[in-house]
Amino acid sequence: MEQTFIMIKPDGVQRGLVGEIIGRFEKKGFYLKGLKFMTVDRAFAEKHYADLSAKPFFNGLVDYIVSGPVVVMIWEGKGVVSTGRKLIGATNPLESAPGTIRGDYTIDIGRNVIHGSDSVDSGQKEKDLWFPEGINWWRPSQHSWIYE
Ligand code: UDP
Ligand code: MG
Repeated sequence: MEQTFIMIKPDGVQRGLVGEIIGRFEKKGFYLKGLKFMTVDRAFAEKHYADLSAKPFFNGLVDYIVSGPVVVMIWEGKGVVSTGRKLIGATNPLESAPGTIRGDYTIDIGRNVIHGSDSVDSGQKEKDLWFPEGINWWRPSQHSWIYE
């Protein structure tokens, strides 16, 4: 089953949005397969965002990610990468639709509270980076009430 890596960024933690964000993924029907509360250093944040290292906002982005604890998760389900991005909303909150996490709770692009993998392949890479110890195996008992 498809998996994605989701991070509640330091502003999401500071603003008390952890439960709300987890609830949106849970209620949709996705399964929580990994969860950690941690603070990362610059080298780790730079590795996570390595693809963006040439961007003018890169240093500010790294400052932001290391500025406090984050909640990192693996969510699983059919289409979870793309649907997860839809639940999150557009990168720039000026363009994120109401009803999405960024559309409902954020104003500025550099304080957009959440990260989600942009492809199945990057989801796999981000899972390996953030969860080198591996994740739990379990299947919720409600499975056949969500999948036909
Ligand atoms: N970002 C920023 N300024 C920009 C573009 C992006 O501060 O002009 C930050 C923002 O926090 C974004 C992150 O860099 O979430 C990663 O950018 P990406 O284009 O991958 O957006 P995402 O996949 O998070 O929607
Ligand atoms: Mg991205």
